[in-house]
Amino acid sequence: VEPELSGDFATLMGWADGFRRMGVRANAETPLDAKTARGFGAEGIGLCRTEHMFFDAERILAVREMILSESESSRQAALAKLLPHQRSDFTELFTVMRGLPVTVRLLDPPLHEFLPQSDEEIAEVARAAGADPEAFSRRARQLEEQNPMLGHRGCRLGISYPEIYEMQVRALMEAACDVVAETGEAVVPEVMVPLVATRAELSRLRTRIEAVADAVFEEKGRRLDYLVGTMIELPRAALTADEIAGDAEFFSFGTNDLTQTTFGLSRDDAGSFLPAYVKNGLLPQDPFVSLDKEGVGALVRIAAEKGRAVKPDLKLGICGEHGGDPASIAFCEGVGLTYVSCSPYRVPIARLAAAQAAIATAA
Ligand code: PEP
Ligand code: MG
Repeated sequence: VEPELSGDFATLMGWADGFRRMGVRANAETPLDAKTARGFGAEGIGLCRTEHMFFDAERILAVREMILSESESSRQAALAKLLPHQRSDFTELFTVMRGLPVTVRLLDPPLHEFLPQSDEEIAEVARAAGADPEAFSRRARQLEEQNPMLGHRGCRLGISYPEIYEMQVRALMEAACDVVAETGEAVVPEVMVPLVATRAELSRLRTRIEAVADAVFEEKGRRLDYLVGTMIELPRAALTADEIAGDAEFFSFGTNDLTQTTFGLSRDDAGSFLPAYVKNGLLPQDPFVSLDKEGVGALVRIAAEKGRAVKPDLKLGICGEHGGDPASIAFCEGVGLTYVSCSPYRVPIARLAAAQAAIATAA
């Protein structure tokens, strides 16, 4: 059953909406999540994590094939298997969101989640690719990392394997053109590049994104407006946001990674001592839950100011877990973010918190 707000709850949310300044979007990648988000009043998708779309057996096999293949032509053959799936993923999302903005983040897996783990898995991938299992095994070993979360992930993967992002952008633009042709309603895709540290990374990828979009528009006989932007989730990106803004129409703060990299604290292992830290007063709260205003928040503020100094109409959002936390939302209001994006079930809380923050600011 798709949830929908009704009665007094819907009335209260309507009042809140009359006061809030920031938009509220949702993090969603499945049609069901997108429908849930809409039912709760989300005004778009702020983060579609595309890596979640590749975990079923057939797709992960093709991803592995692509990653382990040495030749461009084998990589393209593997990606050709993924393109129709990815196109229908995006078509479904655009159809559910009916004209609302959809921010699609290009693939950002920690590579180890996609690497085959055993000899049997490597043999299976080699069989599917018609390749030598020994060669695939060597390649898999070369790609292993001690610290995958600080390694070959995000846009670094898109730089090493540009064909992946090109396939995704092709699927996205084809889906957008098809939905516009079918519904007659506008679709404005937002392409988001993850884990950017330097402007050079974003510029390089932006050129490729534009080339693929142009090729699709040419083939479809239709041009669409679209945005290219970046996650800000590394301190270096925040500190050089004025440079990066030169190649971005929007920033989205990935405060999960930004917290991890600012504290030098693994987001996957934080449970071991953090509760004791909070209990003993070494931290006021878990910084992965409620934004650390002095450190992570300062970087958000610096990036927002530097970005807007170069580009006054730069759209600014947040899509880390903090986007659904009321105290963090109040901080985002103070920084002047355009929207917050959170999990679908937190959308009503975010609408209310954004209204309370706007009222407190006005007062
Ligand atoms: C983030 O880092 O805050 C983010 C939204 O990206 P992910 O959680 O997928 O790394
Ligand atoms: Mg991240």
